[in-house]
Amino acid sequence: MSKPQTPADAPMFAPDAWRLSEQEIDLTARARDLGARLFAPRADKWDRDAIFPSENYRDLHDAGLLGICVPAGDGGEGAGFRAYCLTAAEIGRYCGSTALTFNMHVCSCLWSGALSDDLDMSKQQRRTHEQRRAIHYERILKDGAVYSQPFSEGGAAAAGFQAFSTTAEADGEDYVVNGKKIFASLAGHADYYGVLCTQLRKGKEPSRRDTLYLAIPADARGVSVVGDWDPLGMRGTVSRTLLFDNVRIGRDAELMPQGVYFQAATAWPHMFLTLSPTYMGIAQAAYDFTVRYLRGEIPGLPPVRRRMYPTKQIAVAEMHIMLENTKALWFQAISEARHSPTKEQVLRAYATNHTVMENANALCRLAIRTCGGQSILRSLPLERLYRDSRCGSLMLPWTAELCLDRIGREALYEAGESDDG
Ligand SMILES: Cc1cc2nc3c(=O)[nH]c(=O)nc-3n(C[C@H](O)[C@H](O)[C@H](O)COP(=O)(O)OP(=O)(O)OC[C@H]3O[C@@H](n4cnc5c(N)ncnc54)[C@H](O)[C@@H]3O)c2cc1C
Repeated sequence: MSKPQTPADAPMFAPDAWRLSEQEIDLTARARDLGARLFAPRADKWDRDAIFPSENYRDLHDAGLLGICVPAGDGGEGAGFRAYCLTAAEIGRYCGSTALTFNMHVCSCLWSGALSDDLDMSKQQRRTHEQRRAIHYERILKDGAVYSQPFSEGGAAAAGFQAFSTTAEADGEDYVVNGKKIFASLAGHADYYGVLCTQLRKGKEPSRRDTLYLAIPADARGVSVVGDWDPLGMRGTVSRTLLFDNVRIGRDAELMPQGVYFQAATAWPHMFLTLSPTYMGIAQAAYDFTVRYLRGEIPGLPPVRRRMYPTKQIAVAEMHIMLENTKALWFQAISEARHSPTKEQVLRAYATNHTVMENANALCRLAIRTCGGQSILRSLPLERLYRDSRCGSLMLPWTAELCLDRIGREALYEAGESDDG
């Protein structure tokens, strides 16, 4: 029997079919090359011992991808929202922990860069912001500095319902930061922690409007990393607890000017969709694995003669349909991310996040059931994909549950409407 060749690692989104830009074609190709050649063979190492993938970050820097969302005027790739998402999904196919932590890093550039360019600021504010962000961008591009994005605290703040308990108090030209962040991916490995915290103002209740986004140097006095990290999946993210005890930093630590983060969270809601590319990549990887497994193309495994069974073919067809649905919805949502999206676009963004997170796990589950017992051996990537995929729907602020809550409420009520009276 002749064995047809599966094209090795074709783009997730074929450039012609999805009409990708030249920049998207280039960035996704670079990510796919790094992923297939370097990240996939290393992924087991990070997962097995819950180690942060520092080596991958050096490769991302060498490939110019650490500065993917640094504006072109500042020397970066100047990728917009969609180009970033497509690139990160390619990384997610090969190493979930690298893609998820890469997202935390990239948000520090995307939010302070393209997204901030869309937001209202006074001329003076914008000038200062552009000077400040240039400092961060230079560190990233020249020194390979890595940023993280700890905002979870265990309360209702990360879900977007309350002001953050981590606080910053202005003191002369400095801020003094106090608080605690849980599940802080890259803890102990990032060079800067991009912390969301509440600016305290005398005589005023803490407010979400006073959220600050500050880059705190990992080696600043008063910063510590505590607790262990031994979770089910996404083990290489090393999401330990961060403590800030009277940490003093200058005003140039602002990644966004005062008040602008709140504006972004309100006017640019797709900013929270950036957790989805990792899981879009995992969904693709689970499907690719299944096809290769049934075709007997997994290196190191004896040929499996199973693809002639109708049940296998139906399972693959079901997976294919689920993957196509997920990709089409996701592509639409990442294409329409922008300032002031319509209500329909916002509902679609929630629906997309829910779909990607839930379907990534469903596809991994189907992949294991279809390939069978041999596929769950730790020498193969599928069981890691399965464990990593389980984490997607837990990510705040758009957990699967909160996406349902938001869709239900916002579909039935217009802004300001209530049933009282
Ligand atoms: C691998 C991994 C990496 C992570 N990396 C980071 C990171 O880098 N930075 C970061 O900030 N966080 C990170 N997180 C944290 C993540 O976003 C959540 O904060 C974390 O999973 C804690 O969730 P919890 O279940 O304890 O949250 P809880 O707040 O206890 O929520 C539990 C569930 O209840 C629901 N819920 C929560 N609040 C409400 C509400 N007000 N109304 C209705 N339902 C609600 C949600 O569905 C939620 O899933 C990471 C998590 C994981 C698993």
